[in-house]
Amino acid sequence: MMNNIYEKIKNNERITAKEALRLLKEWDFLKLGEYADMVRFRKHPEDTVTFILDTNINYTNICYVGCLFCAFYRDKKAEDVYTLTIEELKRKIKSAEELGITTALIQGGLNPDIPYSYYIDLVSELSKSNVHVHAFSPPEIDLMCKISKKSTKDVLFDLKQAGLKTIPGGGAEILTERVRKRISPKKISTERWLEIMEEAHKLGIRTTATMMFGHIETEEDIVEHLQRLRELQDKTKGFSAFIAWDFKKENNELGKRIERSVTGMDYLKIVAVSRIFLDNFDNIQASWASQGKDVGEIALHFGANDMGSMLVEENVMREAGFRAESTVQEIADIIKKAGFKPALRTTDYKIVKYL
Ligand code: SF4
Repeated sequence: MMNNIYEKIKNNERITAKEALRLLKEWDFLKLGEYADMVRFRKHPEDTVTFILDTNINYTNICYVGCLFCAFYRDKKAEDVYTLTIEELKRKIKSAEELGITTALIQGGLNPDIPYSYYIDLVSELSKSNVHVHAFSPPEIDLMCKISKKSTKDVLFDLKQAGLKTIPGGGAEILTERVRKRISPKKISTERWLEIMEEAHKLGIRTTATMMFGHIETEEDIVEHLQRLRELQDKTKGFSAFIAWDFKKENNELGKRIERSVTGMDYLKIVAVSRIFLDNFDNIQASWASQGKDVGEIALHFGANDMGSMLVEENVMREAGFRAESTVQEIADIIKKAGFKPALRTTDYKIVKYL
């Protein structure tokens, strides 16, 4: 039976959700890597591995949703709350631009006191610079719909008109209600997350897709998550990349309840199965910032063709007690050591330069 699955992969046939589940449960480490690598080279015959230099600015840390896994959010009555003004954001982007960033990933907590005009002005002001504005995950878009009383389509249209280029795939975590109800009961549902992404794709706004694993989810949940993404991608072709990262236990409620720890091998298994199952996704990222550089390097032989981003500012993971600092040269060296040609790219995966 396992041989049939590998035979299908070799013959470039789509594997089923059941088969993906078997790969996750009965995996053979080296074989899985070999087959994911085969699929990667079929899609990207060149031996280039890309990454992006960007900044991640969190415009507010106030959030009423209170996901159990989140170390970043604050209740609005907390002492250390902040909401950046658009001028402050512009200054941050300007200094990041001086360091060479091409993209600004802008996300925040869900702060119902921010008016709709703030989001539109923010995009419009930041779009006056040369940076690509990659902003607002589906839960934030949903909040904007509530605040403005506009439809999803209208909100996305306004943002696009203001200069929004692409949308990050945050807020997905695990796209099954069983998991969402337990780790983020106040967050938007799976259906709503997918609906917002579908509307964005229809308007020509490309998005990424993400998954946060390594907490209460089962292998079945992971496959269901991947299946929902694959179905939507079949329909819209609007996802530019898939990015998986593992749950960090520090400084959050969920961490106190979870005993398991994600290992490098667990991470590589997810990268490999995603590459094989998500046959309609071009780009699979190795989130080196999540599992460290060594695992990131090996992930390049487990189906990943991209090293994600080198962030100039990243609050969410820093708050979780995890620092991933590096330099462009260091990442380029990791890629070279793994046997690939490093290249800096834009958010839409165009090569800026080889390193
Ligand atoms: S993950 Fe996002 S929505 Fe959830 S509590 Fe943190 S900031 Fe709020």
